[in-house]
Amino acid sequence: MSSLRFKVVEEAFDRKAVPVKTPAERPEEYYGKAVFGRSTMFRYLPRDTYDALIRAIEDKTPISRDLADSVAEGMKRWAIDNGARHYTHWFHPLTDGTAEKHDAFVEHDGKGGVVEEFSGKLLVQQEPDASSFPNGGIRNTFEARGYSAWDISSPAFIVDGTLCIPTIFISYTGESLDYKTPLLRALNAVDVAATKVARYFDPEVKHVKSYLGWEQEYFLVDEALYAARPDLVMTGRTLMGHESAKNQQLEDHYFGAIPSRVEAFMLDLEIEAHKLGIPLKTRHNEVAPNQFEFAPIYEETNLANDHNLLVMSLMDEVARRHHFHVLFHEKPFAGINGSGKHNNWSLGTDRGAMLFAPGKSPADNLQFLTFTVNVMAAVHTHNALLKASIMSATNSHRLGANEAPPAIISIFTGKAVERALAALASSTTEELSGLATKEGISLGLNQIPEILVDNTDRNRTSPFAFTGNRFEFRAVGSSANCASAMIALNAAVADQLELFHAAVERRVADGADRHDAIIDELRSLIGQCETIQFNGNGYSDEWKAEAARRGLDCETSAPKIFDAYLSEQSIEMFGRTGVFSKVELEARNEVKWEMYTKKVQIEARVLGDLAINHVVPVATRYQSMLVDNVVKLKSLFPGVKGAKVVAHDLETIEKMSAHMDIIKTEVDAMVEARKRANRIDDQRERAIAYHDTVVPSMETIRRHIDKLELMVDNEMWPLPKYRELLFIR
Ligand code: ADP
Ligand code: MG
Repeated sequence: MSSLRFKVVEEAFDRKAVPVKTPAERPEEYYGKAVFGRSTMFRYLPRDTYDALIRAIEDKTPISRDLADSVAEGMKRWAIDNGARHYTHWFHPLTDGTAEKHDAFVEHDGKGGVVEEFSGKLLVQQEPDASSFPNGGIRNTFEARGYSAWDISSPAFIVDGTLCIPTIFISYTGESLDYKTPLLRALNAVDVAATKVARYFDPEVKHVKSYLGWEQEYFLVDEALYAARPDLVMTGRTLMGHESAKNQQLEDHYFGAIPSRVEAFMLDLEIEAHKLGIPLKTRHNEVAPNQFEFAPIYEETNLANDHNLLVMSLMDEVARRHHFHVLFHEKPFAGINGSGKHNNWSLGTDRGAMLFAPGKSPADNLQFLTFTVNVMAAVHTHNALLKASIMSATNSHRLGANEAPPAIISIFTGKAVERALAALASSTTEELSGLATKEGISLGLNQIPEILVDNTDRNRTSPFAFTGNRFEFRAVGSSANCASAMIALNAAVADQLELFHAAVERRVADGADRHDAIIDELRSLIGQCETIQFNGNGYSDEWKAEAARRGLDCETSAPKIFDAYLSEQSIEMFGRTGVFSKVELEARNEVKWEMYTKKVQIEARVLGDLAINHVVPVATRYQSMLVDNVVKLKSLFPGVKGAKVVAHDLETIEKMSAHMDIIKTEVDAMVEARKRANRIDDQRERAIAYHDTVVPSMETIRRHIDKLELMVDNEMWPLPKYRELLFIR
């Protein structure tokens, strides 16, 4: 019966690298070939259409129907020239992936044949039958219309012969049903607010952009082994499996030589990504065996997020060509590192200044400190919300575990920034303004040229770290849509910058000098938010106690963490920034709770089945072999001698019975807990019941199955073991 396991293990271990068709050209020649980017637009669009479209993109203004018709015509010609036969609106519903519905370009020509057509109307707006997407009750099924509308700021692209048009997805009544709509709103809000503040330092600034550089971690598993693990196939993680004797303890995987099969996959993926204008740059082994990472050069946040989603689906597809399966789950294997998606985030002006980069002059450094302190204040005020923005049923396995950021949001600034902030906070206004008259604004700022950020000054345990010219939000999960974190962060920072700007202007109206007003306001902010700064070990128990004393949010239950979206503070902040209405927040939380419940429910079902249909029968069979052996030995060696000979077997038999007994009892208890939870109508309460009563049973069941795995004859064990899943040759 174990022959299947041995067969798939052999198949996986014998597999050779799949050769990659490398294009004859260099990357600079094929880069962006599958994208309707600016140079392609210039070639395919009439000059006035091109100019008007670029203006609309840059000024964020709507486009007219005539303009849309003209763009659609050029886009269609380009798509057909590049082999496309279909088009689709490509959007990001509140599920784990992206959505697309393909239509062919064909229309009747009135003479019994067809022509290939694509109008501005189809480009700009469509009405996907959207009743089957998560909507948290916003759309009743009788009002099933949802609209997808073209996001002109993200270019169209071709994948597998289909022209994909990035769109937002909203309900008939205008509520967002996706990630992109609120992301664009948050990016607008931060543009407006940060521009006001950036003008204190450079009056010519017109726009501030938000940038995102994601680092995508993932695991690869051979497809044959994957298919032999129903838990991986259905839930994306292993619900059982004893740790392998060797995993990451020797620290020999991180940055190690990349296995040839994996390297072929990476190269193939990079080529595909580069054709799509996705600037993948870095690839390496991660800490755990079979764990890897891709990172691109950072881009404007909206585009970077589209590119991340696109890369995730490309990875899925390209991995199959290489007989791999990609695991994006945050914790596919217990006992070794999970996967995150660090979100490197920064703000920059249209005049080229990076607002989190310490500068050379005191003025630049005041700008740097202004933006940094405001980020700290925003993260401090909204720490519970930011945690909610990265929380999910899957990421909850990673946070709080020993290798991952704790389920508490704090900021690591590093020593240089910490010193600069302390200097700014402790100098008196007189000292500061005294020096301000002499040599601009220098004191507190004299010390700032010290903000030469040292690359070794890094803290891997912090969920939110300053890394030299950007912040790295590390708590984001590998399977997440980055938009969730980017919406919360950009909106919170936008709101904080608005408050800061208003406060400075109030001081100025009261007669203060503007620089003094800025410095005074920063000092008062530092006083209010310094408790968010933590440069120590975020994994330690002392930190958990300390964070609670500081009043930071320490909730660990995912369904309760989502409550932060509905706190008065969050509702007001999202309202002021125009990112979410209360109705939207309520609806989205319904979706979050429902998703949480469904994911745990699926896992619990799969685990129950595997325990009862796979594990217990095999363990029983092995146990009965032992029993048989005991009986035979006893007849061979009667009396005291016999008792001694069988003692060990008897102990094993007894232990196995105990484990199996607990497994069966606990599966029954888990099924009961599920039934009880399913009777609860309220989504939040139901999710909490799943968290509190179903999850603990799953953990118990797993623990006992893993014990049995070590006892049962290796030849009989049905599921590929960790040591087989985790070591690609
Ligand atoms: P790490 O050492 O943190 O693993 P990586 O090189 O893997 O660093 O990834 C760093 C990511 O940060 C890349 O995607 C990079 O483009 C991005 N990045 C660098 N500078 C900025 C910035 N100013 N704003 C946003 N992202 C940035
Ligand atoms: Mg990295």
